[in-house]
Amino acid sequence: MSVGWIDAIDEVGAGRVLADEPLAGRTTLRVGGRAEGLLVLDDRERLPAVLMACRRMGVPWRFLGAGSNVLVTDGRLSGLTIATGQLRDLAVSGEVVSAGAGVMLLSLIGFAHRAGLTGMEWAAGIPGTVGGGVVMNAGAQGGEISDHLLAAELASADGQIRWVPVQDLGLRYRHSRLQETDDAVVAGRFRLDRGDVATAEARLRTVLAHRRATQPQGKNAGSMFKNPPGQSAGQLIEMAGGKGRRLGDAEISTVHANFILNLGQARATDVLALADWAKGEVAAAFAQELELEVRVWHADA
Ligand SMILES: Cc1cc2nc3c(=O)[nH]c(=O)nc-3n(C[C@H](O)[C@H](O)[C@H](O)COP(=O)(O)OP(=O)(O)OC[C@H]3O[C@@H](n4cnc5c(N)ncnc54)[C@H](O)[C@@H]3O)c2cc1C
Repeated sequence: MSVGWIDAIDEVGAGRVLADEPLAGRTTLRVGGRAEGLLVLDDRERLPAVLMACRRMGVPWRFLGAGSNVLVTDGRLSGLTIATGQLRDLAVSGEVVSAGAGVMLLSLIGFAHRAGLTGMEWAAGIPGTVGGGVVMNAGAQGGEISDHLLAAELASADGQIRWVPVQDLGLRYRHSRLQETDDAVVAGRFRLDRGDVATAEARLRTVLAHRRATQPQGKNAGSMFKNPPGQSAGQLIEMAGGKGRRLGDAEISTVHANFILNLGQARATDVLALADWAKGEVAAAFAQELELEVRVWHADA
């Protein structure tokens, strides 16, 4: 059912606006409810106008990339969810690659290789976009986005789109200050290395093989929790007896205990209850407070 503000956002002309849109299929965990409004953004220049309109009307908003680090709870998520996956521009200048927020990290690596640039192979297998990668400071295998990012282009509700240097983005382990703002990432600028592409491709295959050997397949959102300093959240959950624990169709992976799988028809509440259980067990057994890495979006029940 359409409401007045949705029509107002539609009139901005930034992309398709869908009312009461299911979100589960737009996340890798495949659980959760519906968005009151979903904007499939395809005109980045109009994004500030969208954000200004939301602010004016008192409509909350959030951004969705590939949905590989988001858990939407069951119910209706109020306000506007803005999907940035269509922003897929790629350009290279010297050793610097500019990529729209919607470019998948694997596509960025492939584009760089075709330009003779290497260095981000560690990110192979992270099923996210540039936007989500910057916001989460995604990382694996000793590499992370902050090793390469020079600047991010941000759109904000003050009506501007501007490049912000990486030192002002507060990137640290699975965190950026963007997690506390309403700004959108519309693009990122990355410095890579001029290197041997054949060697880099071999490394990429090794990275993917390592993932296949150590992480579960199926519907999940990657690591549920951040690793506490010097420790592995997965190992702590495993030592607390979590592997294989089930609630409905949600299961703590038997392959890697920091992953919760949706085996079919899991509900968001089951996934969150399992995560809560793991957090409680680890706190009781090891006096260690686990912090969620996955971003939880609370829908109205
Ligand atoms: C199988 C699997 C393996 C994974 N392995 C890893 C790993 O090794 N390392 C790792 O770090 N992560 C990993 N992840 C988690 C996830 O892929 C990363 O966090 C990724 O960077 C999220 O990108 P996304 O586009 O899916 O973002 P989303 O999940 O869509 O969003 C994540 C956060 O970023 C925000 N966001 C997204 N796009 C924008 C934008 N354009 N502007 C502003 N905010 C935005 C969202 O609001 C949300 O807060 C894994 C996930 C899965 C499913």
